[in-house]
Amino acid sequence: TKWDTKGDLDESKNLPIYQHKATLQQAVKDNSFLVVTGETGSGKTTQLPQYLHQAGFWGNGKIGITQPRRVAAITVAQRVSQEMHCSLGREVGYQVRFDDCTTQDTVVKYMTDGCLLREILADPVLSQYSVVILDEAHERSLNTDILLGLLKQTLSSPDKASKGRSVPLKVVVMSATLETDKLSVFLGGCPVFTIPGRTFPVTSKFSCAIGPKDTESSVYVKEVVKVALDVHTSEMAGDILVFLTGQSEIEKACDMLYEKAESIDYRYDVQDHKVEGLLILPLYGSMPTDQQKQIFQPPPPGIRKCVVATNIAATSLTINGVKYIVDSGFVKQLNHNSRVGMDILEVVPISKSEALQRAGRAGRTSAGKCFRIYSPAFWEKCMPEYTVPEIQRTSLTAVILTLKCLGVHDVIKFPYLDRPEERFILEALKQLYQCDAIDRRGKVTRLGELMVEFPLPPGLTRALLQAASLGCEDLLLPVAAMLSVENIFIRPGHPEKQKEADKKHRQLGVQAGSCNDFTMLLSVFEKCKASDAPSAWCKDNYIHWRALKSAFSVETQLREILLRLQKRDFPMEKFNGNKSELFRRCLCTGYFTNVARRSVGKVFCTMDGHGSMVHIHPSSTLFDQEAQLDWVIFHDLLVTSRIYIRTVCPIRYDWVKDLLPKLHEVDVYELSSVARE
Ligand code: ADP
Ligand code: MG
Repeated sequence: TKWDTKGDLDESKNLPIYQHKATLQQAVKDNSFLVVTGETGSGKTTQLPQYLHQAGFWGNGKIGITQPRRVAAITVAQRVSQEMHCSLGREVGYQVRFDDCTTQDTVVKYMTDGCLLREILADPVLSQYSVVILDEAHERSLNTDILLGLLKQTLSSPDKASKGRSVPLKVVVMSATLETDKLSVFLGGCPVFTIPGRTFPVTSKFSCAIGPKDTESSVYVKEVVKVALDVHTSEMAGDILVFLTGQSEIEKACDMLYEKAESIDYRYDVQDHKVEGLLILPLYGSMPTDQQKQIFQPPPPGIRKCVVATNIAATSLTINGVKYIVDSGFVKQLNHNSRVGMDILEVVPISKSEALQRAGRAGRTSAGKCFRIYSPAFWEKCMPEYTVPEIQRTSLTAVILTLKCLGVHDVIKFPYLDRPEERFILEALKQLYQCDAIDRRGKVTRLGELMVEFPLPPGLTRALLQAASLGCEDLLLPVAAMLSVENIFIRPGHPEKQKEADKKHRQLGVQAGSCNDFTMLLSVFEKCKASDAPSAWCKDNYIHWRALKSAFSVETQLREILLRLQKRDFPMEKFNGNKSELFRRCLCTGYFTNVARRSVGKVFCTMDGHGSMVHIHPSSTLFDQEAQLDWVIFHDLLVTSRIYIRTVCPIRYDWVKDLLPKLHEVDVYELSSVARE
C-alpha cells in the first residue's frame, strides 16, 4: 500500500536503534511520557518517527518531531522522506519559521520547537497530533524548555488533556545522554529508554595556541586552519570535522584551507599515500539545503573530506566517516548582556561537556582523535562544566507573552525545568508593558493578543502594528521581512571588490532618498521586486539574491497574518504629516526602547537607563555622518571591543518625548502582581 515502508534504505537496519524497534513502539503505546536517550548517531531522530508511523500512530493524528535548529528540521525531513520513498512535503514534511513544506497528506512532520509553540497557541491540546517528540532536549533551547513545561501541565490535568481529543496525546522526549534522570523526574517519573551505543575511544590533545587571554576570532580561525592541514598531511585516512563559530568564520577558514591545500604536493607532503586530495565543505545554518546534501555523501576514493561546521554538527546532524575533530573551543551564543540590557550574539568558550560531545564525533565507527587548539589552562579557567540553558541567559519577552496568551498568568510559578532568574521574568514583563502588550496588572491587552501572532521580536511587531493601524503597513512589512532574513548586503573578502560593493551600496542609499537604514532596506526590497531581472539586479548591486527571495516570501506571509487580524476588530488611527515622518514615527513606537542621543563626536549614549556608550556600525548609511545627527533609534547592537548600533534611523526628540518616561515609570513588581496573587 501507500504506507509501505519496507523499502527502508538498508543502512538504517545497521543503526543501534533498529534492534529496539518493537520495544520502543510498545513503550510509546504504554506511556504518556517517555524519555529516549542514546549516543548521537544512534538513529533517534531519523528512525523513531518511522517506527511510530509503522506502528500505526498516524491513524490518530500526525507524528510531530521538534528540533531546536531549523536546518536540522529541514535536512532530517529530507532524509526521512527519502527513506520512506515519498517526496518531501507529502507524507513527510517540515515546517520552520516562514517556510512551511507540509500538505494535507503530511503525517510525519519535522518542525522547529518555535513552530510547535505557535501551534499550541491555537490548539492547546494539539488535537492534530497523536505523538509529539521533543528532540534534542539536552540542548535546552528556550522553546523546548517551555514546551516541556506546557505539556507537563496539560497532560497532568486529565480534564484539560482530554478536552477536544479522542485519544490521549503521547509525548516522547529525546536527548543525548545528559540529564535524562532530571527529565524523567520532571515528567512525573516516566520511564527512560536507553539505546545502548557502540562508541570507540577518542584521544584528545590540547595545544598551547589559545590560552585564557586569546579570544580574538582571527587567532582561532588561523589556528584551526593550521591544525586541520597538519591532520590532513600527517594522519591516516579518515574525514575531518572542524568546529567553528559562525558563517563568516567558517567561510574565512574554508578560503584559507582551499588556498593552502592547493600547494600540497601529495607525493612528498602527505604521510598516508592513500590520501590524494582534500574536499572542503562548509556547514552552517543559513546555507542552502542543496549544498548541505554533500556533507552526508562519502567522498570519492582517495579524497579526504573536511567539514567546517558550527555546533550544528555536535548533535543535531551526524556526519559518517569522521575520524578527526579539530575543536576551536568557541561557540556563538545568544546571551543577555546586562551591560547594555539586550540579547546579543556573542562568541564564548564552550563548556567542558560540549567539548566532550564534540570530541565524541570522532569515535562513531572506529577509534578517533580530537585536536583542541586550546591549552589545559584554557580548559580549566575559561570553560564552564555545563552550558547554561537558554532560558537562564536570554530575554524571555516573546515566550512570556505566549504563556500569558495561553492563559498561564502565573509566569513565575510555571513549571520550568530550570527556573530562570526572577529578574529576567520581571524584565520581560516590563518590556511587554512598555510595548503595550500587557497592562499594569500583567493582563494581556488587545494589542498583545495581536502581537503574539507575529513570529517577530516584540518591538518590531509593535512598529508594524502601529503602521497597520495608520494604514501604512506597506512601509513596514518589507522592513520587517528584510530584518528577518540573513544579511542581504554582500561584502566580498577581496579588497578591490569590497570597495566596489561599498560604492554600490552607497549609491543604493542615495537612491533611497532619505538617509536611514530602514528606508534603505525598504528601497532595496522595492527596487528588486520591480526589476525585470531581479537576480541580475542583485548580482550587480552586491545583494544576496537568495536572502532577498526569502524576504519576498516572508513579506507575503507577514501580510497574510496581518490581513487575517484585520478581519477582527483592528484598532485604526489617523495621522497628519508627510510619509517620511509617518514611517519614522511608526518605528519609534516599537523602537523607543532603543533610543540613543549623540553625546560627543561620534559617540552616542543610549536612553534606556543603561546609558551605554555606542557607535554607529560601519555598515550603516549613517556611518561618518554622525556630526549631523542628534537622536537616533536602532534595531540591534553588536558588541566587540566597542558597542555598535546597527540599522539606524535619525528621529526627532518630540516623537519619543512622551514614550521615554515609560522606560522608567513602571514598577516591575506591580506587573507581576497578577502572577503572585
Ligand atoms: P540521532 O538522532 O540518534 O543522533 P540520527 O537519526 O540523526 O541519529 O542519524 C542516524 C544516521 O542517519 C546517521 O548515521 C546519520 O549520518 C544518518 N543521516 C542523518 N541524516 C542524513 C542525511 N540527510 N543524509 C544521509 N545520512 C543521514
Ligand atoms: Mg538526533
